[in-house]
Amino acid sequence: MEGQVLPLTPMMQQYLEIKEKCKDCLLFFRLGDFYEMFFEDALTASRELEITLTGRDCGLEERAPMCGVPYHSAETYINKLIDKGYKVAICEQVEDPKSSKGIVKREIIRIVTPGTIIDPNALEDDKNNFLISVYSNINSYGIGIVDVTTGEFHVTEITGVNSNRKLLDEIAKYKPSEIICNEEFINSKEIIKEIKNRFHTYINQYHEWSFDYEICYKKLLNHFKVQSLDGLGLKEFNFGICAAGSLLEYLSETQKISMGNITGITPYFIDEFMRLDISSRRNLELTETLREKTRKGSLLWVLDKTKTAMGARLLRKWLEQPLLKKEEIKKRLDGVENFKNNPMLREELKELLNKIYDLERLMSKIIYGTVNGRDLIALKNSISVLPHIKSLLSECDASYQKEIYNSMDTLEDIYELIEKSIIPEPPISIKEGDLIREGYNEEVDKLRKAKKEGKQWIATLEKEEKEKTGIKNLKIKYNKVFGYFIEITKSNLDSVPEHYVRKQTLANSERYITPELKEIEDTILGAEEKVVELEYNLFTEIREHIAKEVTRIQKTAKEIAIIDVLQSLGEVAEKQGYVKPEITEEDIIWIEEGRHPVVEKMMSMEQFIPNDTYLDEKENRFIIITGPNMAGKSTYMRQVALIVLMAQIGSFIPAKSAKIGLVDRIFTRVGASDDLASGQSTFMVEMSEVANILNNATKKSLIILDEIGRGTSTFDGLSIAWAVTEYISNNKKLGSKTLFATHYHELTELEGKIEGVKNYCIDVLEKGDDIIFLRKIKRGGANHSYGIEVAKLAGLPQEVINRAKAILAKIEETDISKSTKQIHEKYEIKKEEKVKEPIQLDLFYSEQVKFIKDLINLDVLDMTPMEAIQKLYELNKKAKTLIKE
Ligand code: ATP
Repeated sequence: MEGQVLPLTPMMQQYLEIKEKCKDCLLFFRLGDFYEMFFEDALTASRELEITLTGRDCGLEERAPMCGVPYHSAETYINKLIDKGYKVAICEQVEDPKSSKGIVKREIIRIVTPGTIIDPNALEDDKNNFLISVYSNINSYGIGIVDVTTGEFHVTEITGVNSNRKLLDEIAKYKPSEIICNEEFINSKEIIKEIKNRFHTYINQYHEWSFDYEICYKKLLNHFKVQSLDGLGLKEFNFGICAAGSLLEYLSETQKISMGNITGITPYFIDEFMRLDISSRRNLELTETLREKTRKGSLLWVLDKTKTAMGARLLRKWLEQPLLKKEEIKKRLDGVENFKNNPMLREELKELLNKIYDLERLMSKIIYGTVNGRDLIALKNSISVLPHIKSLLSECDASYQKEIYNSMDTLEDIYELIEKSIIPEPPISIKEGDLIREGYNEEVDKLRKAKKEGKQWIATLEKEEKEKTGIKNLKIKYNKVFGYFIEITKSNLDSVPEHYVRKQTLANSERYITPELKEIEDTILGAEEKVVELEYNLFTEIREHIAKEVTRIQKTAKEIAIIDVLQSLGEVAEKQGYVKPEITEEDIIWIEEGRHPVVEKMMSMEQFIPNDTYLDEKENRFIIITGPNMAGKSTYMRQVALIVLMAQIGSFIPAKSAKIGLVDRIFTRVGASDDLASGQSTFMVEMSEVANILNNATKKSLIILDEIGRGTSTFDGLSIAWAVTEYISNNKKLGSKTLFATHYHELTELEGKIEGVKNYCIDVLEKGDDIIFLRKIKRGGANHSYGIEVAKLAGLPQEVINRAKAILAKIEETDISKSTKQIHEKYEIKKEEKVKEPIQLDLFYSEQVKFIKDLINLDVLDMTPMEAIQKLYELNKKAKTLIKE
């Protein structure tokens, strides 16, 4: 209401005005040496950070709830809050309290969010911290992806069918810590729910206007200082422009600085890379294991021998997006080979790479203005090894290394600038002097000299006063409150000269000053103050000078990352005995003596048994693998998928030799999923994974099916598995290369009946009651599951094992397999026959199913022998009616 003034104190009014601008954040309000929080924010922060809640008079009747953290340890608290999903607005005093009249001016200088955090303590070196913007427009998406700590900026678009699924796959690739989006997207409840369930990420709706095409277009033009976006490759990315532009807007709103480290933008089409859906990424354990979520046990763990943070991040990226172009893969493979074959060169290179700090993140700190002297020394030390690295590259003959050799900028001028300006071991603070090297700036040297001479004068004065007064223990000391003073112990007070001015009395001594002493003090302190200020200004100048070279430094950092990844892959290739795969565009996957990269590395004593694989587009496109539990079916299939993936990222592979025809996607349906958290049953998850495969796989895809239909009744499961086999192997439908492990031995009947289907099994040796796993894959189907034998190995009590065997024998007597065979013969699709969809199940079939279900549901253990005989008689009778001769 007009004229009504809240009875708040002026500072509280200022607080509330600022809080109004950042309602969705916790406001860290700088008061002296603390950041304070008030009202709701104080309640939240004290609860989340477990810090004491106090109160402060604010002019209102009740004290305002308040809590605070010291400014020098604020980062730790901010990181904790960010991790818990809050945003933190940092409000600083922006004028000197000494020179301000009334209340000190304060402003928000930065908003920290999960996707914009830059404190290295809150980040993992080998992982990017991505912030994504999603612009949704009627089932199409523009996606902008940025990492403010490294300056990477990508943009892509998703349109057409299955766009939701593709969007999720893309998000899975980046695992962003934060997503901003437009209203349409936040209203897509289903997909938002799925993102929240699957990823540890925070989604916020952002201003609708910030996604406006015109505004975004201009924002991008301004940021990249260009006349048209076509030159940036954004011509075809209308939705992408909206996403990328909104990201820049979000960054300028939260970071309050121009993001000078974002020097370029990389547009891409999602089909440029091998597509891996969320579950395949997880199932193949590319960067972490499925269950424990640890790095150890993942493919990355095997392949990562990188020495720099940039290399580690790049290797992760290569793993997350395998290539599809033969030439690009070949270039990487040749680069790896070059390093593999040169162990001496590699050793030297590794030592040099070890000395390189995270140039990308250092650069971002320079742009943000948060570097100190030590960071610049780290930059200098990193740069110091570049010429040596470059000279090593001159010895390489692979095209990738040559290319980098020719283009690498070794940044000598930046090295020299830091070398001549910053002292080799500077302090952490940049506001306390002792930063700038002697000889760099005349004024600094002059002031330092005055400081030093002043100190000499003090020493001389002390000596003279001692002599003049005859007081042997007379001392000239310094403290921050009084400056320099003469200290005389009580026992010598009689000898104190008249002109000494007493300043302070202590228990055992008195402190004095003299005009002469104060004169020297002025010179020393004046010089000290001036030199500290001058050094700070010079440091800022040097920092800004380096900031201008951001593009050059980033380019070198990228090249170092590539060299590091190539040497890492070369090292692993040599140490693990990998070979270079032949990459082909033919439809063939031929692996001679392939091994599972992770399982073989995990094995200590036991030797991994290699196995061959042959898949093509004709006779061998659908491999059905049977064999006992524990035989090694899953290991074998994952090994094939991993080898193909490794080949397409440009890595050597664990095999004797291999010819890998490029695949566009790898799909996996593997084991029990850990997706129960998403609120679906195991069977439901399994079926939706199968649905995804059937809807998205192409002739060029590789599919790994580890058992399907297990989570339902045997006959439903078998029928689904059968139908899926027919669908995938059918060249007119999918015709994808497939490995399918199953315990439904009935499926082995399909070889010879469906084109492209071949049976394989994993060999075991029966030895009396026991089995020995041979781990060798061979042609043909297994006819025995050995489930009971494996159960015995697992330690089931002998009594249960014996009983299980007896039950199995009885079941086998009823010859279910014979009847199922007939069922399937009946429904088998003849080659020329068109599929009648849906197949009508007749009464006869459902009677048979009912009969078998009844049989399965019998509680044999709970029957008396008489009851059992009676039941058997009935079943026998019923069975005869169900077999059509
Ligand atoms: P299930 O049908 O019960 O899922 P499976 O046939 O899929 O079993 P895997 O899980 O692949 O069996 O393998 C079981 C174990 O056998 C693995 O954990 C691994 O230690 C070992 N193994 C698998 N393949 C090999 C191999 N080629 N050489 C040596 N050991 C192997």
